[in-house]
Amino acid sequence: MAGRILDGEKIAAAIKAEVGEEVKTMTAAGVRPGLAVILVGNHPASEIYVRGKVKSCEALGIYSEKHTPPDTSSTDELLALVRDLNSRDEIDGILVQLPLPKQVDAKRVLMAVDPAKDVDGFHPVNVGFLSTQRPGLVPCTPEGIIEILRRSEIPIVGAEAVVVGRSDIVGKPTAMLLTNHHATVTICHSKTRDLPGVCRRADILVCAMGRTGMINRDYVRPGATVIDVGMNKITDRTEFEKFFKGNEKREKSFAERGSTLIGDVDPHVADIAGAITPVPGGVGPLTIAMLMVNTLKACRMRRGAKVPALAETR
Ligand code: NDP
Repeated sequence: MAGRILDGEKIAAAIKAEVGEEVKTMTAAGVRPGLAVILVGNHPASEIYVRGKVKSCEALGIYSEKHTPPDTSSTDELLALVRDLNSRDEIDGILVQLPLPKQVDAKRVLMAVDPAKDVDGFHPVNVGFLSTQRPGLVPCTPEGIIEILRRSEIPIVGAEAVVVGRSDIVGKPTAMLLTNHHATVTICHSKTRDLPGVCRRADILVCAMGRTGMINRDYVRPGATVIDVGMNKITDRTEFEKFFKGNEKREKSFAERGSTLIGDVDPHVADIAGAITPVPGGVGPLTIAMLMVNTLKACRMRRGAKVPALAETR
């Protein structure tokens, strides 16, 4: 029997609706949360992501502003911009869209963001808060994964969780959050021995490697929950058929666009998983929703608005 599909769009919409209500209450109390996004140069994918973030702010009543310094910007110029945003009280969140151009020292720019405004949760101060379970800003995609599990009533306490991928932005913080939620966590990476065997131990399997459909049925214990973070594009017909042969909807969109999105999990895993996130429409929508939550949370933590605390429940 096919597994339950965990609908990220629906969960993200519910979270955004809650945020929207809270923003309304805060704004009525004289405090409007504000987000500044820095988009350097003309990176097509980044432009799409930033557009989505700004649109979400507008829909929820969050103040937003977009800064678009040119591709030729220096580290010092970006540092000056970040410092200016740090100093403005009405800006609660600062998001530096990655990747930055080659000549820019990205680590220095990210380190310059005031940790209290670091809505991406990448600053080492926030990483430290997460690992020591202190209130802080948590990376959006990992926090979104927890929301999917929580709102789908998938038990985390005591579960065997396996996270494949150890990046600073997805794998490690996801493993840390699962640990904080009392799962027993194993982190895997490219040097892991017997990856399929380790993955098969998982009640909750999180796949964040950026490897097209790599996690097939050999890696999944029947009934397990599978969270697919990967976002990969297929353009090759043979590869398309390996994963989507007979899928009419995909056939149509592939024919129209010449490409289709796929995660790190082979779609056939849905036949044996207990629950699984689709790609697209799984983890992706949560990333923006959690950015909105983080902006609200940063606003609450910085400006202490006395309103019901969605953010404090996290
Ligand atoms: P990184 O490239 O930074 O990290 C990939 C990780 O996967 C590394 O730890 C790497 O191991 C591991 N890995 C790679 N190949 C294998 C393999 N064959 N076996 C086991 N482990 C492997 O990627 P990110 O964490 O930034 O992103 C992961 C995926 O998630 C990407 O597809 C990205 O597009 C997607 N993503 C999706 C988001 C969303 O909103 N849905 C948000 C962010 C990312 P090692 O450390 O040994 O090199």
